[in-house]
Amino acid sequence: MTPPNFNDEILLTKMLNVLENDIVPMTQKGVELGNKIFGAAVLRKSDYSLVLAETNNEMENPLWHGEVHLLKRFYEMDANKRPPTSELIFLTTHEPCTMCMSAITWAGFDNYFYFFSHVDSKDAFAIPHDLKIMKELYGLDAGGYNHENAFFTAKGIVEGINSLNSDKKADLLTQVDRIAKSYDEMSATYQNSKSENDIPLS
Ligand SMILES: [Zn+2]
Repeated sequence: MTPPNFNDEILLTKMLNVLENDIVPMTQKGVELGNKIFGAAVLRKSDYSLVLAETNNEMENPLWHGEVHLLKRFYEMDANKRPPTSELIFLTTHEPCTMCMSAITWAGFDNYFYFFSHVDSKDAFAIPHDLKIMKELYGLDAGGYNHENAFFTAKGIVEGINSLNSDKKADLLTQVDRIAKSYDEMSATYQNSKSENDIPLS
C-alpha cells in the first residue's frame, strides 16, 4: 500500500466529519476530566471508513497523548478485526509531538494528516511542550522535521482543503472554522483547570 492521495476531496470531507462528529465529542468529555485537547483516529484507505477514534488520557498516564492512546486502544482490539496499519490512514487533531510521530512510525503507518499545525499549537493553544522538546532535543523549529521521509508522508488537512479547486471548498472551510471554534472552547476549559492536575507537562 502507498500513502493516500492528500488532495482527495472525499477523504478531506470524511476527515472533517470524523473530527467534528467522533473526536470532538470524546475530547469534550476528556477535557471535563482534566485531559488535554488532543485526539486521533484511524480510517481505512480503501473506503475511508472509521476504524477507531480516541482522545488524550493523560490524567491516567502522561504518555497517553491522543495518538498514543489511540494506538493503545487499537492494539487492544481483536486482532482478527484489526486491519494492518499499512492499510490505514492516521488522522490527528494536532501535528504530533516527537513521541507520537515516532509511535506512528513504529506502528507501521506510512502517513498522517493533522488538522492544526505545530505553529497553531504554539500560537493558539498555549501548550508549547512538543515544540520545546523538538528544539531542545533535536534543534528543530516548529514543523522543521521531514514531512516526507523514508517512513511516512505527513500533510495538513487545511492545507489540502485550501488547494482544492471545487465548489465544496467554501463549505469545507466553514466546517474548518466551526471545528477550530470547538477547540478554542475546549482549550479555554483545559487552561482554566490545568493548575489542578498532576500532569508533568500540563
Ligand atoms: Zn504526542
